[in-house]
Amino acid sequence: MENKIIRTVKGHISPDDLGYCQCHEHLFIARGLSSEKVPSLVMEDLDKTVDELVMYHGKGGRAVVDAQPVGCGRMAKELLAASSRSNVHIIASTGFHKLDFYNKNHYIYELNREQLTQFFVDELVSGMFIDCVNGPQVPTTRGTAKAGIIKTASDGRNIFLKEDTLLVYNKLFMAAGAAAHETGAPVMTHLEMGKGAECLLEVLTSQGVLPDKIILCHLDRVINDEMRDYQLKVANSGVYLQLDTIGRLKYHSDEAEAEFIALLCEKGYENKILIGLDTTNERLKSYGGSIGLDYIIDNFRNLLRKYGIGDDLFQKFTVSNPSKALSFLPIK
Ligand SMILES: [Zn+2]
Repeated sequence: MENKIIRTVKGHISPDDLGYCQCHEHLFIARGLSSEKVPSLVMEDLDKTVDELVMYHGKGGRAVVDAQPVGCGRMAKELLAASSRSNVHIIASTGFHKLDFYNKNHYIYELNREQLTQFFVDELVSGMFIDCVNGPQVPTTRGTAKAGIIKTASDGRNIFLKEDTLLVYNKLFMAAGAAAHETGAPVMTHLEMGKGAECLLEVLTSQGVLPDKIILCHLDRVINDEMRDYQLKVANSGVYLQLDTIGRLKYHSDEAEAEFIALLCEKGYENKILIGLDTTNERLKSYGGSIGLDYIIDNFRNLLRKYGIGDDLFQKFTVSNPSKALSFLPIK
C-alpha cells in the first residue's frame, strides 16, 4: 500500500496507522430537516460526542467514519475538535444523502453535474465547507479539515428511470463518481433497506470508479431467503460491504446478523467485510442511547465467536479491511 493515504480530519495518515475502525457511524448531526423527520437524527453536543469517543478509545477504538455528508447536518468543525480531543481518527464525508433530508430549494437541485463534481472535489482536496445551510445558498467558507470519503445515497429505486427525483439521483451519482475518479477517494453508498445496488454500481463504475473503491452500506438490513441470491451477487462484484445492522433488533436479531456474516465468510468474502453501528442519538451512550460505540467490541465480538468467527477474521473486519477500503493514492 505504498504511498496510499487515508484522509482524516486532522490530515492524512498511513493506512498502517488507522487501527480499529468502524466504517459507518454518525457522531454529529445538526438539528434541521433530518431531526424534524426522524427525532433520533440529532447529535449536536461536542462534549457528549467526545465522551463517547473517549470511551470508544478506551476499549481499543482508534478510528470512525462519520457518514453525514455536506449540506444536510454535517458538523465539520466539531468533527475536527472531537478528533483532536479524543485522539480518535475521524474520516469525514462529502457527497450527498437521500433527498428526503434536503429542503426543496437546496442547492444540490440547482447545481449541474460538473458543478457538483467540483464541489465534492473541493471538499476532498482543499477543505470542507463550514458555512453549510440546508437551502439555496451554496457554501463558500472552508475550514482546515478535508473530507476523506464521498457519501452517496438513493431511495432504493432504479436511478436510470427518467422519473422525478430519480433524475436528480442520477446526476448526483454521476458527479460523485467523477469526483472519486478525479481524486482517487473512496465512495460510500447508502442502500435503502439493502436494495438497489446494481444500478448504483453501474453508474459509479461508468465514471471510472473501481469496485474496490466502493463501500456499499446496509446490505444486511434485511436478511431472509428472498434477499440471499441478490446479496451474494452484490458481494461478488468486488466492492466492500459495510454491515451495520448490528444491535438493531427492529430489523433482525444479532444472531441473524452473525449468521449472515458467517455465510459471507464461507463464500470467500472475508476480505471485503467492514462493520459498524450506523449510530443515532438513540444508540450513543453519551446521548442517553442504548448500546454505545463500544457495542461491537464489548458484545457483538463475543457473539461472532459463537458463529466460528475468531480474532483473525474480526481483525480483518475492523482493522485490515478498513485500512484498504479507506486508503487511496491521491490523484489531485
Ligand atoms: Zn448512516
